[in-house]
Amino acid sequence: MEHDALIDSFGRRITSLRISITGTCNLNCYYCHNEGQSRHRSQMSPEHIVNIIKTASKLGVKKVKFSGGEPLMRQDFEDILVSIPKFRNISATTNGVMLSKRAVSLKSAGLDRVNVSLDTLQPETYAKICQCNEDIHHMVLDGIQSAVHAGLTPVKLNMVMLKGVNEHELDDMMSFVRTFDRDVILQIIEPMDFGNYGGRVNVDAIERDLGSRASQVVERKMHRRKKYMVDGAEVEVVRPIDNSRFCAHCSRLRVTADGKLKPCLLVDDNLVDVSTAGIHELERLFYQAVNLRKPFYKG
Ligand code: SAM
Repeated sequence: MEHDALIDSFGRRITSLRISITGTCNLNCYYCHNEGQSRHRSQMSPEHIVNIIKTASKLGVKKVKFSGGEPLMRQDFEDILVSIPKFRNISATTNGVMLSKRAVSLKSAGLDRVNVSLDTLQPETYAKICQCNEDIHHMVLDGIQSAVHAGLTPVKLNMVMLKGVNEHELDDMMSFVRTFDRDVILQIIEPMDFGNYGGRVNVDAIERDLGSRASQVVERKMHRRKKYMVDGAEVEVVRPIDNSRFCAHCSRLRVTADGKLKPCLLVDDNLVDVSTAGIHELERLFYQAVNLRKPFYKG
């Protein structure tokens, strides 16, 4: 049966689904936005997650990103991956702590690539940001190596730029990325102020610096993010704050760990509960959630 495409009332077509498969995480990063939810332990059954993703596929979604909490906290992540339909791209965002042991099985189960959260190359700074033991940093670096070897590439390193904490590490991060010869991309993220931390980083200055050193600058369709090629390091900049272009080109629908369709990361009062919906009802609820989408920052 032919389905109408998921297009919101602002003409934005939904091609990407970001689904939290658990609210549980093994780290406690002080800036974490928890994908726009308060911290909780709930999670859906694998069957329900698969039904939601199948529905998204039927309605024209091309890309799926698994998130959390920490998606690798779920031992049945591979089972979920083998049960979902083919997409143009299936990825996960992970803190990488448990990635080294799972990279090969995740790839075999159908995961195309991963984003790994890595804000710093300094174990001490890492421990402060993630409120964990310094040794964990090494496990994440191992996880990145394993992901590259398993072919979960390009691996994107998510570096949330934190004022006075890791801003000075940009060049070190680019050097680190270069050691992987294009298999790893650095993604600089402007933090969203969900708590009180440190003040706002000057992302304009960072982009000017990257622009002045780049041999090539490309604008991605997704959120109109810019990508800079600097001496063989690929650096993408994600700027969600006060950015009407970001919102105007948003093609993403979110699913929370407790089973709610979330039209926008920054809005909490328009969630559509799909936690108990059967496969046929899910389609209707997808359209309902998409109709509730509004650009958070308007042009
Ligand atoms: N635990 C997984 C991980 O580390 O990727 C998935 C959940 S985590 C919330 C997903 C991504 O959100 C991380 O890469 C992190 O960098 C980013 N993130 C978390 N809090 C943020 C904030 N306040 N502003 C911008 N990005 C944030």
